[in-house]
Amino acid sequence: MSMVVCQICGPKEGEWQCSVCKRVICTDHAVPTKQGVFCTDDAPQKNNQAQAQAKKTGQTSSAKGLLSLFITLLALTIGLALIVFIGQSFIDAAASQSPVVEPFANAMKSGGILIIIGMGALTALIGVAWLVARRSRV
Ligand SMILES: [Zn+2]
Ligand SMILES: [Zn+2]
Repeated sequence: MSMVVCQICGPKEGEWQCSVCKRVICTDHAVPTKQGVFCTDDAPQKNNQAQAQAKKTGQTSSAKGLLSLFITLLALTIGLALIVFIGQSFIDAAASQSPVVEPFANAMKSGGILIIIGMGALTALIGVAWLVARRSRV
């Protein structure tokens, strides 16, 4: 007479069947849940791991979002600085020829510098937020 034994531990009688791997398993290796009976290898504790993994991935993607935002802002700031710098040289050239343009040129210069400083500060802030988000993912 052959008895169906647990396919995990061997000698014990298998009374259950895992819904995932279909192995016959003993009471010790069976994990009955609302979703069905699982062996200890396929038991829903793996779902918790999957949830933890998803949480981790979520944090990673938020860090990735911050990184892309940081790169976008950095590119914008550099682009803006270039535009202001190049525009400034044109305005300076015009101002040197006509004194009427000079106050306008100065206003443009200080306005452009203010915008660049603001953008730079925002970029640095996003960069720090990204570093923090990256560090919290352990
Ligand atoms: Zn067993
Ligand atoms: Zn199984």
